[in-house]
Amino acid sequence: MKVDGHIHTPYCPHGSADTFEQYIEKAIKNGFKQLSFTEHAPLPKSFSDPTPMQDSGMKWSLVDNYFSELLKVKKDYANDITILIGMEVDYIDGYEDETTTFLNDYGPLMDDSILSVHFLKAHEQYTCIDYSKDVYLQFAKSVGGIKHMYKLYYETVMKSIQANLGPYKPTRIGHPTLIHKFQLAHDEKIQDDEWIKQTLRAIQQAGYTIDFNSAGLSKPFCLETYPPVEYMSFINEIKLPYIFGSDAHVVSDLHQHYDIVTK
Ligand code: ZN
Ligand code: FE
Repeated sequence: MKVDGHIHTPYCPHGSADTFEQYIEKAIKNGFKQLSFTEHAPLPKSFSDPTPMQDSGMKWSLVDNYFSELLKVKKDYANDITILIGMEVDYIDGYEDETTTFLNDYGPLMDDSILSVHFLKAHEQYTCIDYSKDVYLQFAKSVGGIKHMYKLYYETVMKSIQANLGPYKPTRIGHPTLIHKFQLAHDEKIQDDEWIKQTLRAIQQAGYTIDFNSAGLSKPFCLETYPPVEYMSFINEIKLPYIFGSDAHVVSDLHQHYDIVTK
C-alpha cells in the first residue's frame, strides 16, 4: 500500500502555502492510500528557537485551527484516502517535561506522530543542525570537529529513543541520519556505520519504527536518504518497520523519490 508518512502543511512557518487539498489531490492521483500530515509541533514555550527567523515550529496560536482543518479534510476525503492527523515533535535534550506536557495535551488528537532531533545542545546552547551548511560547519567547529558533532547527534537520537515522554510519545523516529544533510560540504569521511546500526537496533528494540525519509536525496550536500538506502537490508534483517516519508514542504516535493522503497 502506498503511504507517505511525513508531510508538512500550510501551517509550517518555513514551508509553503500549498493547501491540504493540493497535497491530497496529488496523492490520490498517484495512487496513495494513506497520508500523515506531520507539521512541526510548536516548540516548548521556554525554549528559544536559535534559527534567525525563529520559525522552526508552528505557532502556538494556530494549533487549534490546525487540528480542526485536518479533521475536516480527513472527513471530506474519507472515501478516497486515509488521512492521519499528526505532528513532527522535536526531541530537545533538557525540554522533556514541557514536551511531555504538550504530548499529554495534544496527543489524544493525533493519529500518528514523529519524534525528530533537529536541535543539538552544546555549551549550554542549542543549534538547529539542519538549518544551513554554515550553521552546521560552524557548530561542528565549536564541538571539536565533524566527528564530534556526529557523535553528539547519535547520542541525542539515542536519548530521544529512551526518553520518557509519557503515553503519547511518538513511536516513529524521524530521519534518523539527518546529520548527513551537509556531508558533502566538508571533505572528511565520517565512519558512522556502527552508530547508525546501534541507533536502528535501539529503535527496533523499543518497538518503534523509522521515518524512511527521502528529502535528503534532493539536498545538494546530502544526496542520500535518511537513513541511506544501503541500510535497507540491515533494516529488514533486524525487522525494523519503516514508513516512507517525503518530508514535503511544497506539493511538488510530495512523494519525492518514492521509488526508493519499492526497489
Ligand atoms: Zn520543516
Ligand atoms: Fe524533520
